[in-house]
Amino acid sequence: LTERQRLPRWMKMKMPKGESYSKVKNLVEKHGLHTICTSGNCPNIGECWNRGTATFMILGDICTRRCKFCAVKSGKPLAPDLKEPEKVAESVRIMGVKHCVITSVDRDDLDDQGAGIWARTITEVKRVNPDTRIEVLIPDFRGKEELIQQVIDAGPDVISHNLETVERLTPFVRFASKYRRSLDVIKYVAQHYTVAKSGIMLGLGETYDEVLQTMDNLREAGCKVMTIGQYLAPTSTHMPVVEYIEPAQFAEYRKIGLEKGFSFVESSPLVRSSYRAEEHVKA
Ligand code: SF4
Ligand code: SF4
Repeated sequence: LTERQRLPRWMKMKMPKGESYSKVKNLVEKHGLHTICTSGNCPNIGECWNRGTATFMILGDICTRRCKFCAVKSGKPLAPDLKEPEKVAESVRIMGVKHCVITSVDRDDLDDQGAGIWARTITEVKRVNPDTRIEVLIPDFRGKEELIQQVIDAGPDVISHNLETVERLTPFVRFASKYRRSLDVIKYVAQHYTVAKSGIMLGLGETYDEVLQTMDNLREAGCKVMTIGQYLAPTSTHMPVVEYIEPAQFAEYRKIGLEKGFSFVESSPLVRSSYRAEEHVKA
């Protein structure tokens, strides 16, 4: 984090510890498993792993898009690993994950945008781990409904697609994506499945009214669960943090979100899309 020295007191992170955390950490190291929790240096790792939640990234670690807030490498990805579904399923089993979150890089280079591997991964994780809940944080699949439908048909418990920021800032923050297209993805999921979820980051220069407008747009699309967290720049070459939002402001957004009809709003500075994700299934 480039801002580490200047972080406000509420962004200070605790050192992860705990019996479950240590067990999962040892397993991850021993088996060379790949999670966003470790590769993204997530501040919530101690808490999440102690609760039995972890996030896996599939379809490689090179993205065809280049969002200005994101730590994932971008460029020309390698061919998909056709054994990845089995590997993820086995990783979930080894780690004893109770609530598994799966996400991916964007694969605009593939005809199916990676939907086939997505569907096979969900199916395989379910087969090997029948008691594990599965949440998927999907790309926009360029808005192609037949590809989103493949993920839906595989039967995850929660489908999430992040708006990441307000409409005005979207062309700057994730310029290969479109705010309205992402809303359409969320709407399609909400109309054809159980829980549709989305999230945004604050501190990128958005206004109070724009955050409320984003909530309204998500509710109109049928989104039931929303996460709101503070943006942190992964390196000095990424978008700088414009503002650190006070915890009280996050709490106010949570209250407003619930009044607007969300079943669940997770809103505080350290919240990430998959933070306390197991709670959202009950929403
Ligand atoms: Fe992993 Fe998500 Fe928890 Fe971070 S918030 S530790 S990425 S499950
Ligand atoms: Fe990162 Fe997703 Fe943007 Fe790719 S599409 S750069 S993984 S946020």
